[in-house]
Amino acid sequence: MIKILDRYFELSYSHEVIQEKVKEVAARLNKDYEGMNPVMVCILNGAFMFASDLVRELTFQPEILFAKFSSYEGMSTTGHVRELIGVNANIQARDVIIVEDIVDTGTTMYNVLPQFLNKGAKSVKICTFLQKPECLTVPLKVDYCAMEIPNAFIVGYGLDYNGMGRNYRDIYTVVEKAENQE
Ligand code: 5GP
Repeated sequence: MIKILDRYFELSYSHEVIQEKVKEVAARLNKDYEGMNPVMVCILNGAFMFASDLVRELTFQPEILFAKFSSYEGMSTTGHVRELIGVNANIQARDVIIVEDIVDTGTTMYNVLPQFLNKGAKSVKICTFLQKPECLTVPLKVDYCAMEIPNAFIVGYGLDYNGMGRNYRDIYTVVEKAENQE
């Protein structure tokens, strides 16, 4: 059990499990993108740890870019997606792989995807480390997902609770507040 700010979190997925899942999804990408040079866009902040593990398992040569969108505050999604850091490189006629930490309602990816297509990308695929399938509220196609998880708030492996907890190499799930917990 760990405490971040005012909440307690319990271990759900260990570093070892995470690394296995990263390798599995990397193997799928290696097969599909063999001999290609796609643009991989790491979505900040949450995907930084997944992206850094993922790219080290790749056998093709991607161009690695970073973008930042905002939609989440505290422990629930706001529904608004704002571009905070955009992709400046020319992605015209390029194959794009969006690298995301987690797909929850799908709102972020659903709104982000057309932005890459509008910039002239040849193809745009989503590669997320985690997905909460029961939470999806939009018709989003997730092309690569390393791990499906139930609907609960998690931290660690790049994911935060109010800015904290991103550094943990394991993934933790929030423990619902007990009567006697402050
Ligand atoms: P969506 O737009 O799919 O509802 O939410 C996507 C974003 O919400 C993710 O990129 C992530 O930043 C955040 N998010 C969704 N679920 C969780 C969660 O369980 N924990 C944390 N820390 N962030 C989450």
